[in-house]
Amino acid sequence: MKYNSIIIGGGLAGLTSAIRCAEAGLKTALISAGDSALTFASGSIDVLGFRQNNALVDYPFEAISQLPDGHPYRKLGADQVRQSLNFFTGQMAQAGIEMSCHGQQNHSRLTALGAMRPAWLSQPGAKPLSLAEPAAGLRRVAIINIAGCRDFQPALLAAGLKKHTDFAGVELTIGDIRADTISLTARNVYELRSLEIARLLKRDLFSRPEGLTTLASAINKAAGNADLVVLPSVLAVENGNQLIHQLEAHTGLRLCELATLPPSLPGMRMASALRQRYRQLGGLLLEGDEVVSGNFDNDRLLSITTRLNPSMPLTADHFVLATGSFFSRGLDSNPSSLTDKTFNLDVVTAGQRQHWSNQHFLNGSQHPFCYFGIETNDHFNPYQEGQVIGNLYCAGAVLGGFNPVAEASAGGVAISTGWLAAKQITAQYSDVRGNHVESH
Ligand SMILES: Cc1cc2nc3c(=O)[nH]c(=O)nc-3n(C[C@H](O)[C@H](O)[C@H](O)COP(=O)(O)OP(=O)(O)OC[C@H]3O[C@@H](n4cnc5c(N)ncnc54)[C@H](O)[C@@H]3O)c2cc1C
Repeated sequence: MKYNSIIIGGGLAGLTSAIRCAEAGLKTALISAGDSALTFASGSIDVLGFRQNNALVDYPFEAISQLPDGHPYRKLGADQVRQSLNFFTGQMAQAGIEMSCHGQQNHSRLTALGAMRPAWLSQPGAKPLSLAEPAAGLRRVAIINIAGCRDFQPALLAAGLKKHTDFAGVELTIGDIRADTISLTARNVYELRSLEIARLLKRDLFSRPEGLTTLASAINKAAGNADLVVLPSVLAVENGNQLIHQLEAHTGLRLCELATLPPSLPGMRMASALRQRYRQLGGLLLEGDEVVSGNFDNDRLLSITTRLNPSMPLTADHFVLATGSFFSRGLDSNPSSLTDKTFNLDVVTAGQRQHWSNQHFLNGSQHPFCYFGIETNDHFNPYQEGQVIGNLYCAGAVLGGFNPVAEASAGGVAISTGWLAAKQITAQYSDVRGNHVESH
């Protein structure tokens, strides 16, 4: 089977690349071994939240020019990073999720521990707060849990919020909604996980005509007249933002859906929306299979072999490697080395092994290993033993040269590099949109 493009890895980077290729009419296959980091992510997109000296970034696109040479954003430039995010928001909207942002500026997103993280794009249910004054306009915040939900701890959230001087004058209240008051019949109401609550709500409550009003009155009772009501994200994977919107209409309250401990429903929702969009565009999705090797001929990757079909190599003109970092096992490390698990491409590391990590990382110092990953040229083509591979592009967390955690840049780098890989691939075909281009 021959494709125009094969994308390896179905996280944010791979899905963005695959959607762009499929939308341009390329015959595209996406192979993904398992769930991506989106299952753990907040469902907001961090573009660039912190500078190298840990200072907060107000305007992420303006700050790109100050990043060090070799950073993926420096290879793209601010304009292309912005274009890629416009493309992403357009695709999310097509899939039914209108992402929100504060113009060019970062906003604060609340975390389950009461910390504020800078992000640039958020799902509407997350209720992005002002970066400079997150508590602006808030006098009373109610934190409401579903009793027995073990993925969300309101007391921890309240304690975290109280540490912010901005929240000093804000009254915080904690309440919960008992499962039986909203008709949930769980086997163990003391041990509910967020995904299980979503499943039970769908089965026991939202299936009934009065389900939404029952939940709305339980929220009203628990929250009183708060200016903001924070709820754990337990309502639904797919249509969670719509449910929040409907509940706001029923309660007259401003509701903030907060990602819980993993699995994170807003992150899963984003992954589900992107997969749905890709399929809608006619792309082939091979889930649960893993690329185990590639057949290279000097500067080209000719075909790949997967674990489930070792005797049937898949051939393409172009490939994108978006296999993630250590978390998704795109990168592997052992006491003496770091490797790209899929093709053994050249990787960026630095210095002696004992200097790869930093014992004092809790004081804001960085771990050097966070910058490690595949080395690429300015087009994001990798090297194998020094030889550039011209029809293979790398995207997302598998790349070296940036620190996704310290910079708060993971989502933006994944989207922009996945987008650029596809842009370079599609530029090589004249026929766009609608017609599948024949592979040659
Ligand atoms: C706990 C956590 C929280 C996060 N929160 C946020 C957040 O709030 N905001 C934000 O912007 N970013 C966040 N991120 C980062 C973000 O979700 C991703 O890490 C980032 O977008 C990188 O995406 P990716 O597509 O490069 O890799 P990944 O998401 O890691 O996806 C890689 C995919 O490749 C697959 N794969 C690996 N090897 C192979 C192979 N050989 N063959 C086929 N498939 C393979 C994996 O199974 C996986 O599906 C978070 C990350 C983590 C871990």
